Amino acid sequence: MKVDIGLDKALDYCLKTFGKEAQLIKAIEELSELIQILAVDLLQESSIDREEKIAKELADVKIMVQQLDLVYPYLNEEMYNKKRLELILKTKSKIPWRCSDDGD
Ligand SMILES: [Mg+2]
Repeated sequence: MKVDIGLDKALDYCLKTFGKEAQLIKAIEELSELIQILAVDLLQESSIDREEKIAKELADVKIMVQQLDLVYPYLNEEMYNKKRLELILKTKSKIPWRCSDDGD
Protein backbone atom coordinates (compact mmCIF):
# COMPACT_ATOMS: atom_id res chain seq x y z
CA MET A 1 0.00 0.00 0.00
CA LYS A 2 1.37 3.37 -1.01
CA VAL A 3 1.20 6.00 1.73
CA ASP A 4 0.51 9.49 0.43
CA ILE A 5 2.85 11.86 2.25
CA GLY A 6 2.48 14.58 -0.34
CA LEU A 7 5.73 13.72 -2.08
CA ASP A 8 4.24 13.88 -5.56
CA LYS A 9 2.99 17.42 -4.94
CA ALA A 10 6.33 18.41 -3.38
CA LEU A 11 8.27 17.05 -6.36
CA ASP A 12 5.94 18.82 -8.78
CA TYR A 13 6.46 22.05 -6.83
CA CYS A 14 10.26 21.62 -6.94
CA LEU A 15 10.24 21.05 -10.70
CA LYS A 16 8.01 24.07 -11.34
CA THR A 17 9.92 26.29 -8.90
CA PHE A 18 13.53 25.35 -9.61
CA GLY A 19 13.26 24.05 -13.18
CA LYS A 20 14.47 21.04 -15.12
CA GLU A 21 18.18 21.96 -15.14
CA ALA A 22 18.36 22.40 -11.36
CA GLN A 23 16.55 19.12 -10.77
CA LEU A 24 18.84 17.26 -13.17
CA ILE A 25 21.86 18.67 -11.34
CA LYS A 26 20.29 17.60 -8.04
CA ALA A 27 19.69 14.08 -9.41
CA ILE A 28 23.33 13.86 -10.53
CA GLU A 29 24.45 15.11 -7.10
CA GLU A 30 22.37 12.50 -5.27
CA LEU A 31 23.48 9.68 -7.56
CA SER A 32 27.10 10.74 -6.97
CA GLU A 33 26.63 10.70 -3.20
CA LEU A 34 25.25 7.16 -3.36
CA ILE A 35 28.16 6.06 -5.55
CA GLN A 36 30.61 7.54 -3.05
CA ILE A 37 29.12 5.84 0.01
CA LEU A 38 28.87 2.50 -1.82
CA ALA A 39 32.54 2.79 -2.82
CA VAL A 40 33.49 3.48 0.81
CA ASP A 41 31.42 0.47 1.87
CA LEU A 42 33.37 -1.70 -0.56
CA LEU A 43 36.72 -0.51 0.77
CA GLN A 44 36.04 -0.47 4.51
CA GLU A 45 34.36 -2.69 7.07
CA SER A 46 30.64 -2.15 7.34
CA SER A 47 29.28 -0.17 10.25
CA ILE A 48 25.88 0.88 11.56
CA ASP A 49 26.81 4.50 10.87
CA ARG A 50 27.57 3.62 7.25
CA GLU A 51 24.37 1.62 6.88
CA GLU A 52 22.45 4.72 7.98
CA LYS A 53 24.34 6.80 5.41
CA ILE A 54 23.61 4.26 2.68
CA ALA A 55 19.92 4.27 3.66
CA LYS A 56 19.88 8.08 3.48
CA GLU A 57 21.60 8.25 0.11
CA LEU A 58 19.42 5.46 -1.27
CA ALA A 59 16.33 7.37 -0.12
CA ASP A 60 17.68 10.53 -1.78
CA VAL A 61 18.22 8.67 -5.06
CA LYS A 62 14.80 7.00 -4.99
CA ILE A 63 13.17 10.40 -4.48
CA MET A 64 15.17 11.89 -7.35
CA VAL A 65 14.18 8.98 -9.59
CA GLN A 66 10.57 9.95 -8.86
CA GLN A 67 11.53 13.52 -9.76
CA LEU A 68 12.97 12.28 -13.07
CA ASP A 69 9.58 10.75 -13.89
CA LEU A 70 8.21 14.30 -13.76
CA VAL A 71 11.15 15.76 -15.72
CA TYR A 72 10.62 13.22 -18.52
CA PRO A 73 6.86 12.62 -18.58
CA TYR A 74 7.01 11.67 -22.26
CA LEU A 75 8.99 8.54 -21.41
CA ASN A 76 5.79 6.61 -21.18
CA GLU A 77 5.09 3.66 -18.93
CA GLU A 78 4.93 1.25 -21.87
CA MET A 79 8.43 2.24 -23.05
CA TYR A 80 9.80 2.02 -19.49
CA ASN A 81 8.21 -1.40 -18.87
CA LYS A 82 9.56 -2.70 -22.22
CA LYS A 83 13.12 -1.60 -21.31
CA ARG A 84 12.76 -3.01 -17.80
CA LEU A 85 11.58 -6.38 -19.15
CA GLU A 86 14.47 -6.48 -21.66
CA LEU A 87 16.96 -5.89 -18.83
CA ILE A 88 15.37 -8.53 -16.60
CA LEU A 89 15.47 -11.10 -19.41
CA LYS A 90 19.07 -10.18 -20.26
CA THR A 91 20.08 -10.53 -16.60
CA LYS A 92 18.27 -13.86 -16.26
CA SER A 93 20.00 -15.17 -19.39
CA LYS A 94 23.39 -14.54 -17.76
CA ILE A 95 22.59 -16.50 -14.61
CA PRO A 96 23.85 -20.09 -14.84
CA TRP A 97 20.68 -21.45 -13.29
CA ARG A 98 17.44 -20.54 -14.96
CA CYS A 99 14.74 -18.62 -13.13
CA SER A 100 11.39 -20.12 -13.93
CA ASP A 101 8.24 -18.06 -13.89
CA ASP A 102 6.40 -20.58 -11.71
CA GLY A 103 8.64 -19.99 -8.70
CA ASP A 104 10.79 -23.14 -8.99
MG1 LIG B 1 22.27 12.67 -0.72
